[in-house]
Amino acid sequence: MLDFFKKPLSPQTGPGKVADDAAARENRPAAPELVEQLQQMRVLLVDNDRLHAARIKTLLNGVGCYNILACTIEEAWARLQQNAPGGVCNVDLALLDIQQSIEDDHRLCRKLGGESPWNTVPIIMICGSPARNAPAGEPGWQNQILRVIRETSATHVLCTPIRSVDLASHLVSAMSLKREREQHKWRALELQNTAAESRVKEARLHYLAAHDDLTGLYNRRRLEQMLELTALRVRGRTQPGALLYMDLDQFRLINDMQNHCMGDRLLVAIADLLRRQCGPDHTLARISSDEFILLMENTGQEQALACAEALRRSLDSFHFETRERSYRVSASIGVAMLRPDERVDAHTLLARADQACYAAKTHGRNQVRLYSLEDQSVHVLKHDAHWAPLIQDALTNERLRLLFQPIMEVGTGRRTHYEALVRMLGHANQLLPPAEFIPVAERMGLVHEIDLWVITQALELLQQLRHGSPELSLNVNLSAKVLHNHRLLPLVRDKLHGSGINPRNVVFEITETAAIANLPLMRDMVQQLRNLGCRFALDDFGAGFNSFNYLKHFPVDYLKIDGSFIVNLIGDPADQALVRSMIEIARKLGKRTVAEFVENAETLELLKEYGVDYVQGYHIGRPQALLYPA
Ligand code: C2E
Ligand code: MG
Ligand code: MG
Repeated sequence: MLDFFKKPLSPQTGPGKVADDAAARENRPAAPELVEQLQQMRVLLVDNDRLHAARIKTLLNGVGCYNILACTIEEAWARLQQNAPGGVCNVDLALLDIQQSIEDDHRLCRKLGGESPWNTVPIIMICGSPARNAPAGEPGWQNQILRVIRETSATHVLCTPIRSVDLASHLVSAMSLKREREQHKWRALELQNTAAESRVKEARLHYLAAHDDLTGLYNRRRLEQMLELTALRVRGRTQPGALLYMDLDQFRLINDMQNHCMGDRLLVAIADLLRRQCGPDHTLARISSDEFILLMENTGQEQALACAEALRRSLDSFHFETRERSYRVSASIGVAMLRPDERVDAHTLLARADQACYAAKTHGRNQVRLYSLEDQSVHVLKHDAHWAPLIQDALTNERLRLLFQPIMEVGTGRRTHYEALVRMLGHANQLLPPAEFIPVAERMGLVHEIDLWVITQALELLQQLRHGSPELSLNVNLSAKVLHNHRLLPLVRDKLHGSGINPRNVVFEITETAAIANLPLMRDMVQQLRNLGCRFALDDFGAGFNSFNYLKHFPVDYLKIDGSFIVNLIGDPADQALVRSMIEIARKLGKRTVAEFVENAETLELLKEYGVDYVQGYHIGRPQALLYPA
């Protein structure tokens, strides 16, 4: 360590006088702090001539400088080669006597002038007097002075013999130069620090924009960018890539049972596990609370599935310990392939992997599932998961409505029958058609509740209108799952009992396809409802194959000819032939016919000709909220 100086010595002579002289020469008062600064000044005196050095030292003491280190040029060089303590410059001034080797002087000057922390140190060069070197006034002497200033970084030049007053004024000027240089250096350093700070901030922002704060993995935004690029790269190659979508099975449980800090701890632990197992070749991201993604390039399907399976096993055997208990964590993993022959964007790929993951979850969790274009069940599952709570909400919060469509008796022109058609109120109170929610309700086991609700509403309405419109009949559609609805028969029985409703005015509609699906059981159920006095219609008749075959044995009162045969009846001779024979056969079997989808007068006329009993369709009347029985 370079520790040139000891504590400043106390002045032996009155330095104030010389400082005063220097001040007098510069026409300003010698401030007490100037005297003190001279006392504190650390002077490095480099002179190979010890006698000469001693003389200069005495001169320095004379002007109030006591903190002096006198050394030879080699000693000074050796000391400067070492590091300054704490990188701080502990020399305030260098006094160099260049009587000796000018080369060594230059080397020292370069060190002092060019390298931190020495480059703030002013250098006073002591040159021989003109008498010692060259005759005063001769160009050689002046040239030497100029050369010294030019070639070294000397800031001042003093010629021998040195006068105290010159020395003092050079010292004062060197002191203020040092101060200026230091201030400049600090300002530059400050600027550097500010620039570095803003660079660090910028880098931090850049990092945050691409990473998940909690786990340090990539975030969704970055993943989507990388996925887009990977999808592009894969297109031009022969090797496919893979996207693994991992969703923790029990995360919500742990997060809810424990606190959210614990949930965070678990996510960090899972991220570490995945990071270790996936290695640096693949891209790992967390895209939402417990959903992790692994993007693999140059990976075939077999390899991707093997990797997914290995990850699933690792997660399955992972135990998350809290103070109270240990939790097991498993994951459902969906795999979507990036194929070179397919043009698919990042969003679609993510959606595919998500769907496969969702399918893995609904098929029992803790498993791997590969997305395939044919796997429509995945879409259906998603659709159903979206609708099920909405239907539930509609049932509990009375957001179901009934519309009524008139059915006209052709012979009399009377609209004594109405078909009740269910609607669901959407978020914006729009009426949603049954095609939107009945199929979902059937799959999710909610359709029984809808059927019971419709029956209740229809029977209550019939009860209200029984005196004013005793002939009014209401047609009620039953779902294809009606066989499993064990509450239906008791409900109808209870509602009819003592209600004053004529049971004949209740017409249940069952579609032909639902009837064929389980003919014997359906026949029994139909018979039981008919035993209560209700009537039955076979809806959408003709839509199935072999419609006539079982008609003989199916106990229904009405046949509703499927609307697809009616809408184009005028221009389609095949439909005309079919409709005509349907009406004829029905009549022979003692059943009455209803033609659906009658949209214009011409169709109505033709149907009249064929002998149809009832007509229904937009031409007669659209489904509406109120009944106008006539
Ligand atoms: P559906 O029983 O055959 O009902 C006839 C459907 O045809 C109704 O559609 C009706 O609005 C529509 N329609 C009536 N006249 C015309 C016409 O002239 N042209 C055309 N293009 N269409 C016409 P909606 O109300 O959407 O019902 C569709 C199906 O949903 C029904 O077919 C029925 O199978 C089922 N559905 C309706 N209401 C209920 C219900 O309360 N419970 C159950 N389980 N299913 C219902
Ligand atoms: Mg119907
Ligand atoms: Mg129909």
